Amino acid sequence: MSQMPTAVSIREVGPRDGLQNEEPVPAEAKVRLIDALSRTGVRRIEAVSFVHPKAIPQMADADEVWQRAARVDGVRYSALVPNTRGAQRALAAGFTEVEVVVSASDTHNRRNVNRSTDESLDDIAELIDLLHGAGATAEVIVATSFGCPYEGDVDPLRVAGIVDRVVRDGADRVAFGDTTGMGTPRRVRELLTAVRDRNAHVPVLLHFHNTRGAALANLLTALELGITEFDASVGGLGGCPYAPGASGNLATEEAVHMLHDMGIDTGIDLDALIEAAELAERLLNKKLPSGVLRAGPRTRLTPLPT
Ligand code: ZN
Repeated sequence: MSQMPTAVSIREVGPRDGLQNEEPVPAEAKVRLIDALSRTGVRRIEAVSFVHPKAIPQMADADEVWQRAARVDGVRYSALVPNTRGAQRALAAGFTEVEVVVSASDTHNRRNVNRSTDESLDDIAELIDLLHGAGATAEVIVATSFGCPYEGDVDPLRVAGIVDRVVRDGADRVAFGDTTGMGTPRRVRELLTAVRDRNAHVPVLLHFHNTRGAALANLLTALELGITEFDASVGGLGGCPYAPGASGNLATEEAVHMLHDMGIDTGIDLDALIEAAELAERLLNKKLPSGVLRAGPRTRLTPLPT
């Protein structure tokens, strides 16, 4: 096995990606979840998205949530935006780290924003300039990087071409989203190899979904390939929008539990994280899919019957 990193940086996306794919909850609940996560030791939180309220009613109160949430020292907060209007709102709200999404699959991109991937990339070039001009960083998230629910397989060379383009346009980081959980270790390896062949130095973050149970295997594969930045969602919050009842995002507790046992630092207190996941269950009034939340960490022993 190749050399493993000694530390990874986890970005907690439950308050944004998670809640965006659940039944709407009040601003108060979102603020409580962000605040609980801020106290777990996690170093990055994707707090809100600035999207049109008609498109995603779950995020209509993004400004209010962000104003009320505590800013904890040592935590970097970011916002996701779909377009220039969203980027302007994020900057006005004071964000200095912004993510923008484009889909590697033309069909998926058209379904989401009614534009081709290339048309969205033109917009993103302007958006990066806008963010940089305001002193903010711009991360481009490439959705459906490991497969598209409409088109099936996505060619790693197509994704690598998108990376070429956004790197040329000044993106500070690229993220690869396994939007509907179609990734496998083989596909993670193929994609990262294709990207690294052409852009060896661009910072890369991976965003896995556990829709088909492969998220931790994909995480391990990425670690072996030297990736140290990952998204994860507390409790596995955020279902799959295409398959009701299916798991969505990689659960943060599952990632942290495995990483810590491998001697890889995340800065996160697993007990505090599990408490935040339990809070998320109460706020949503539903059980979340995280295995570590259900069973507890492996260090929590079962008492013998007396
Ligand atoms: Zn996700």
